[in-house]
Formats: sequence, C-alpha cells, structure tokens
Amino acid sequence: MSGHASLAEGGPDSIRATVGVEGVVAAPGERATGVVEVDLGLVTVGVPVVVVNGARPGPRVGITAGIHGAEYVSIAALRRVVLGVDPADVTGSIAASIVSNPAAFAARSIYVDPLDGRNLNRAFPGDPAGGPTDRLAEWLYTWIIGPSDRFIDMHCGDMNEALVPFVGMEEIGDAAIDTVTRRMAEAYGLDHIVLGPSPGTTTTTAARAGIAAILAEVGGQGRWPEEDVALHAAGLRRALHAAGVLPEPGAGPRGESVVHAEDVWLRSDATGFWHPAVGVGERVEAGQRVGEVQDAFGSVLRTVDAPVDGVVLFLVTSLAMNAGDPLLAIAR
Ligand SMILES: [Zn+2]
Repeated sequence: MSGHASLAEGGPDSIRATVGVEGVVAAPGERATGVVEVDLGLVTVGVPVVVVNGARPGPRVGITAGIHGAEYVSIAALRRVVLGVDPADVTGSIAASIVSNPAAFAARSIYVDPLDGRNLNRAFPGDPAGGPTDRLAEWLYTWIIGPSDRFIDMHCGDMNEALVPFVGMEEIGDAAIDTVTRRMAEAYGLDHIVLGPSPGTTTTTAARAGIAAILAEVGGQGRWPEEDVALHAAGLRRALHAAGVLPEPGAGPRGESVVHAEDVWLRSDATGFWHPAVGVGERVEAGQRVGEVQDAFGSVLRTVDAPVDGVVLFLVTSLAMNAGDPLLAIAR
C-alpha cells in the first residue's frame, strides 16, 4: 500500500472512513457522483467524477479516461464500468475521472488541451502555479493518482489515429509493486503489452511514486463502436479484479497478449499529405518503406522507412500531416 490509502483501509466497518475526490464523497458501501470545479487560472472546468467506496476495506484504485479529449472508447468504457459496479461487491475503493480534460473534450481537440496547446499526458505531476495544463495535471495527480494504491489510465487512438489494442506498463524494480502492475497488465487481456517509461505521463509518474500503474488503449478515430467499448470495459473489470477490488474478473472479449520491449515512434519532419504504406497491426522489417509525405501536387517530400523490425502499434490516419507530429509507432 502506498500514498493515502488509510482512508479506505483497516479497522472495523463502523469506523471506516469515507472516500472522496474533493467534494465528491462516498460512505462505505456507496457510490457518489459529481462534477468537481477545477480552477485552471484562465478558466474553471468541470471534471465529472465517480467514487465507489466498497463494502470492505482494501486498495484504492484511481482511474482516468479522456486525458486526451477525443478518445471516446476509453471514456465510454470507464463510465459504463464505474456506474455499473455494485459497491457491495467492491473491496477497497475506486476513484475515477470520466472526462479528465473537459476543455479538450468540448473542443474535440486532438492531442492537446485547447487552452494552451499542450499535451496533458506529458505534464505530470503538474504544477499548481503553472498554465492550464500544468494545473489540471496537478489536480488529477493530487486527487486521482497520488492517493491511489493502483492506477489505470484509459486511452484509445485519437481522432486521427488507428491502433491495435495494447497495454503500456513499466517495471520499477520493486518486486511487490511490479507483480501487481504485471498482473493488471496481463489481466486487461489486450493483444499487446509494451514495456518502458514515458516521462511526464500519468503512468510513469505514478510508477515512480510507488503506485502500480498501467495504460490501456482500445479503438480510435473518433468512434466508439460497441465492440471496442465492450473490450475496453471487459479489460478494465479484469484489471480491477487483478488489482484486488472486484471479486470476479467477469465475462467479455479478450485477446492474447504479446509482450514488447519498447515502442519506437516515428515523427514527420515535413508538413503535407501523409500516405501510409502499411496498416495498423502489420508486421514490418527494418528498412521497409512505411509511407511518404507528399506536397499538394503529389511530389514526394519525405519517404519514411521502418528503423526496426516490429508491429505497427498505432498509425496516423489523417491525410493532413504537420512537421513534428507522430506518423506511427512500431512495437518491438
Ligand atoms: Zn491518449
């Protein structure tokens, strides 16, 4: 156990405390929902929060979705699971922010917070004296991530991205924590598990604070088909079982996970028209042409070759490409 888990741990039920995210507070055996107003300096945003306080003491699990505002599968799946779970079945507690970046959700913004153009998932643990993205990261860290014993960050491909379902995780060299992390990652039951840290992200920041943390990605391209929502939701329930808060892993779709040592991101150094030559999930070899960036009249500005062997983990599917933006990632 780490952090502030004492809220939901130990002692007979009669003296067990409430669990809360600011003003959204659940008594033992209850669920609370509410919108928390978060002051980002320039504006105040409303973050919808669900807290499930279990019938028995146990670990606190923090969950975020919508860190990227147009990643709808993750938002839909988290909402379904935390509103559907019976608090009487829960050991410990769940504290979830359904739409973690409300301004990005409202603007249907790709990658960044429209308030300052920054990627929230590079800003953790945040700064209460910084700009809007720094302040939002600090609030999420303070109320959702930091007080948790385990943490799950739900994503999917952005509005302009396709991907294969995968889990990201990082081992920190503490056997007790790493065992829980790996159990949650395997339980999620997605096709790929990718190892390795990503500085500034929710999960790496959590892991370095001693919190078992995973990232899970299903779906994308601005859609939320039932098939994808069902897979993300079933994976989350299995991970909550592995985390020790749900009594059963539940039914539902799952994949067989292949483990990769890392993912290699390719970015464009040219602005123009992106023509990928491979599909998501496709196996590629080092040196293989994976796409090209053209100008408006069809001349090739850049050819793009795979630097390593591996599987195409995600792929940008928009024709529009900007210098500096990701093109695709290869898991190896
Ligand atoms: Zn994302």
